[in-house]
Amino acid sequence: MSKVLLIGAGGVGSVVAHKISQTPETFTSLVIASRTVARCEKIKAQIQARRPFPIETAQVDADHADQVARLIALHKPKLVINTALPYQDLSIMDACLEMGVDYLDTANYEPPDVAKFEYKWQWDYQARFRERGLMALLGCGFDPGVTNIFCAHAQKHHFDEIHYVDIVDCNAGNHGYPFATNFNPEINIREITAKGRYWENGDWVETEPMAMHKPFDAVELGRMEIYLMYHEELESLCKNLQGLKRIRFWMSFSENYLTHLRVLENVGMTSIEPITFQGQQIVPLQFLKAMLPDPASLGPRTKGKTNIGCFIEGIKDGTPKKVHVYNVCDHEEAYRETDNQAISYTTGVPAFIGAKLMLEGKWRGQGVFNVEEMDPDPFMAELMVRGLPWVETVDSDS
Ligand code: NDP
Repeated sequence: MSKVLLIGAGGVGSVVAHKISQTPETFTSLVIASRTVARCEKIKAQIQARRPFPIETAQVDADHADQVARLIALHKPKLVINTALPYQDLSIMDACLEMGVDYLDTANYEPPDVAKFEYKWQWDYQARFRERGLMALLGCGFDPGVTNIFCAHAQKHHFDEIHYVDIVDCNAGNHGYPFATNFNPEINIREITAKGRYWENGDWVETEPMAMHKPFDAVELGRMEIYLMYHEELESLCKNLQGLKRIRFWMSFSENYLTHLRVLENVGMTSIEPITFQGQQIVPLQFLKAMLPDPASLGPRTKGKTNIGCFIEGIKDGTPKKVHVYNVCDHEEAYRETDNQAISYTTGVPAFIGAKLMLEGKWRGQGVFNVEEMDPDPFMAELMVRGLPWVETVDSDS
């Protein structure tokens, strides 16, 4: 029975809060804290219109570890779930260390002024979390998150060695706007406009942004064009999978989305370099974010499905084997359950499951962990019953 502090009241935080409120056997109460307290209040009202559950709200600027530490001291949670932005990861981890509380997030740290994300900064907390006897679980969304766990599941149950992994993230959702991003526009656009990168035979191979692409037939979605991108789970999986020769990440985009993005990029609207406008410093990408629809507002409008999964090839008992593990999620069903579309849902449900397993003692450890380092079995079982059922196809030469 545990109280949890949830920081960040966007689409992902909202889904985590909804799922927690459905699980009183593990979670006793919830504090939702964010920069704008009105968003926490809105989530609280949406949940309490559906079911009674003890929820408090609070204002916090999580860029400041001392503010987070004060909140922890006040509420004494067993766990802090970070669904704010990657910029806040380190300050929230600092506060957890100071106050002696476990930590969970869905996206790795990214400095606000450099469009670069990597685990190094958070892996550097390893010794401090271990010495304090605390656990930090990193990247527990869908990708990263479930995709890592699909790989860990394949490694445990299907392969002696995994040689090739292709992670494929397809979204056929239609929200009716000419252009909008499905999660935080700033983080999303920084990710997409970066160079592509994949790992092969021990080295990183770099490509121009969105230069490698191919058609792909996604189960239940149909034909989509998928683009090779760098994605953060590649960094931990290339260390944690045995015998790996190559790992890549692909994401689907519509021609309409890419045309809008190209225009915005060409006119400088996706830049993170500050400019002076009418005597004020503004960051073009942050201004663009203010102009675009709030991802949390897409929920009631979005129709269609997502399909995210892993194609894995390797060897079992000397015989080549191929496994495809994936989940299909329906935007409208996700909205009916949690007032959010499937991108927030597919991220928030795994964060909730990770928190549940930590609090129930099924996932424990001292130090900083990526999810594939944990036993995949209880997580895979929870996915089946918490709204993200998975399908597996196995193709073996034996
Ligand atoms: P949103 O932008 O919708 O929500 C972010 C929330 O964090 C907002 O409520 C925002 O407050 C709050 N916030 C921002 N800065 C601060 C701060 N300094 N202090 C306190 N609160 C702050 O994002 P999403 O819900 O779409 O995404 C949340 C996280 O999930 C992101 O880190 C994203 O990268 C990650 N993600 C992970 C995925 C995965 O599969 N692993 C997939 C999709 C997202 P305010 O309302 O004031 O702006």
